[in-house]
Amino acid sequence: VPAQRNTRQRQAIRKVFEETSRPLRPLEILDLAQRHVNSIGLATVYRCLKALTDEGFLLSLTMPEVGTLYERADKKHHHHFYCRACDQLFDLEGCTLEQGGFVPPGYALDSHEIFLYGTCATCSTGATS
Ligand SMILES: [Zn+2]
Ligand SMILES: [Zn+2]
Repeated sequence: VPAQRNTRQRQAIRKVFEETSRPLRPLEILDLAQRHVNSIGLATVYRCLKALTDEGFLLSLTMPEVGTLYERADKKHHHHFYCRACDQLFDLEGCTLEQGGFVPPGYALDSHEIFLYGTCATCSTGATS
């Protein structure tokens, strides 16, 4: 694979993540990257995602029921919300768990993961047919 081509495709994926702050799954990334570069397939997307993760630009994490999602590595601590209605992922800012009091005395908490599922604001208020 010519290095030049790979570079263009990697830049297209980088641009996708500069344009959106939502966490994205590989198929969404492919779809959005195709707006910037013509010749890109899912295998290349995966290859670029791995490279961008290795160099510290992206983070990947696996959300039960949803699969692996990718997002910029420079975000503050937050959690993820999955809307079952529109099949999109959203970031939830702020975390009450960081205020403490969640674990019993004597336990030292150093990290946590929470995944939220439901209906986003747009889908909650939108008319359903
Ligand atoms: Zn929704
Ligand atoms: Zn948290």
